[in-house]
Amino acid sequence: MRELEEKILSEGKVFPGNVLKVSNFLNHRIDIAFSNRMGEEIARLFEKEKITKVFTIEASGIALAFAAGLHLNCPMVFAKKNTTSNLQADLYSTMVHSFTHNKDYCVVVSKEVLKAEDRILIIDDFLANGEALNGLIDLCHQAGATVAGCCVAIEKCFQGGGDALRAKGIRVEALAGIESMSDTSITFRK
Ligand code: 5GP
Repeated sequence: MRELEEKILSEGKVFPGNVLKVSNFLNHRIDIAFSNRMGEEIARLFEKEKITKVFTIEASGIALAFAAGLHLNCPMVFAKKNTTSNLQADLYSTMVHSFTHNKDYCVVVSKEVLKAEDRILIIDDFLANGEALNGLIDLCHQAGATVAGCCVAIEKCFQGGGDALRAKGIRVEALAGIESMSDTSITFRK
């Protein structure tokens, strides 16, 4: 999505450890009109997939998933992060390693909100090593739901998480794919 690439170039900042900050429009201050356009684009990409729910992880996936759900005309569910393992009969749970905080979270979702008949589109703001998406896929599989695909705003392609998921046969789309980045330049996948 050209508009997202332009915003990354004009407002993004690269930090050590391969962290891109886009806090001015994506995950701290939210540009609502722009999020809405990203949601529209996600709906266009997945319009034939008969999505019944969009599914993300708190907190920074929520705004984009909300926008996608609005345009796909389906509910949005977000998984919750706990620092401790929280095994309860009414929850599905999985462990996820956080790229930005370098710690493990137990991620949970109520059994009430993911069902075996669901066709799920998984959404997140960033895709790096694929830990967050793999955790969400695991929760869908525990529910017996079908993962129709994954879509992120920004894939850092050089970290390999997206291609590892594609190699498993999962459809993964990114509105912008970063091929390489440094504090002086960012190049995008064509
Ligand atoms: P992964 O699980 O694919 O390794 O990393 C994706 C998760 O880590 C996303 O949920 C996102 O919140 C966070 N993340 C990964 N890389 C970045 C980054 O460069 N910038 C920001 N702001 N978050 C990131």
